Amino acid sequence: MSTAKPAKADRFRVQFLGANATVTGSRYLVEAGAHRLLVDCGLFQGYKPLRLRNWAPFPVDPASIDAVILTHAHLDHSGYLPRLVRSGFRGPAWCTQATASLCGILLPDSGRLLEEEAGYANRAGSTKHHPAEPLYSEDDAKRSLRHLRGMAFGQVFEPVPGVHASLHLQGHILGAAAVRLEYQGRSITFSGDLGRPHDPVMLPASAPGDSDWIVTESTYGDRTHPQEALKDELGEVLRRVAARGGVVVIPAFAVGRAQLLLRIIAQLQGAGEAPAVPVYLNSPMATGVNDLYRKYPDLHRIDAAGLDELERMTRIVTTQEDSVALNRRKGPMVIVSASGMVTGGRVLHHLIAFAPDPRNAIVLCGFQAGGTRGASIAAGAPTVRIYGQDVLVRAEVVQLSAASAHADAGEIVDWLRSAPRPPRRVFVTHGEPDAADALRLRIQRELGWSAHVPEYLEYAELR
Ligand SMILES: [Zn+2]
Repeated sequence: MSTAKPAKADRFRVQFLGANATVTGSRYLVEAGAHRLLVDCGLFQGYKPLRLRNWAPFPVDPASIDAVILTHAHLDHSGYLPRLVRSGFRGPAWCTQATASLCGILLPDSGRLLEEEAGYANRAGSTKHHPAEPLYSEDDAKRSLRHLRGMAFGQVFEPVPGVHASLHLQGHILGAAAVRLEYQGRSITFSGDLGRPHDPVMLPASAPGDSDWIVTESTYGDRTHPQEALKDELGEVLRRVAARGGVVVIPAFAVGRAQLLLRIIAQLQGAGEAPAVPVYLNSPMATGVNDLYRKYPDLHRIDAAGLDELERMTRIVTTQEDSVALNRRKGPMVIVSASGMVTGGRVLHHLIAFAPDPRNAIVLCGFQAGGTRGASIAAGAPTVRIYGQDVLVRAEVVQLSAASAHADAGEIVDWLRSAPRPPRRVFVTHGEPDAADALRLRIQRELGWSAHVPEYLEYAELR
């Protein structure tokens, strides 16, 4: 019979397998005794060397990982799960019930998009790989869903022997949670993505539980969100673009920011503060996601009447044919379509159709990770490469910083400060280098705590 070596029995350590110097690819390997646990299982996006990590063999054998815990359903936290399962992972993937529901929609959609993109690249000859293969298929994604185990917020469970885990409300998107792990009297909390304390749609995060170590995100670690009301900012754009007969294309993830923006547009139109132009939500997932807002009324701030209004004022486009037909329509109109960082999805086709015309506007509303098309557009690139062709960007580009689903630097520090006691150390991850380092300094200066920005594949012994 093989038993764990005594020296290993009290080992507790974390290895940073992603979200280092980037906001994507969240993956943290926790070793507790002889067991392995993966907190988050995200896709890398943005710069090519990062994206290539999705294709490289996983740093440890997936079959040797006993369990996964997901903080939330965004693909940079959950989107590698189908590939992990295809590579031999056999264990459960714990998450909140709402995250399990969302993954049920998002992961198959991700697989379908990966297949479509591979197929498109093959047809267009825009690939060096013959034939281009998807990272995983829709079927792979569906198979990976069988591993999900939905838990209630606050409920303690044992993902591997000796580790007590719990999930705590983080706002950000439906179901988003911080993960707290305790092993032999030592504890670590992973922030996941931290929402904003006064978001119009999502609830504020709960305070971090008692922890010896905290791993925090730092997406906006070097920034303060402007006070300007999103309603005013968005209303102005809608009036300006409609007046010149243009199309407003809003790349937005179908979960979370899309509902926020549509709700505000509906309110603006209802109050006569924005012209009553048609508003389209183009996503095969739209109906399913709206249903989830009804299924989990306690996890957000839109009441049933608000959801009714949102659905009444929005034209939902789900089929491929209707999506293509939208590109032949003339403005003024508004189109909301994924993905938020323009890394994939139907919004690519809308940009091919609408980005070259200066009457139109592209409205970016979330963080644009370095190396993504969204970041290029935000930086004023004259063209953007889509499916092997350079698409002219003559449309007006607007960044709605007030629409972020992430806490800013001060809000992250406030969240940390609300912990019942100072941790022994904070690990700052999930931020580009300037943002992560600025937050590290702020934690040291304002809280007087030890803070460290770990590098890719770095270990930290938790003892
Ligand atoms: Zn997220």
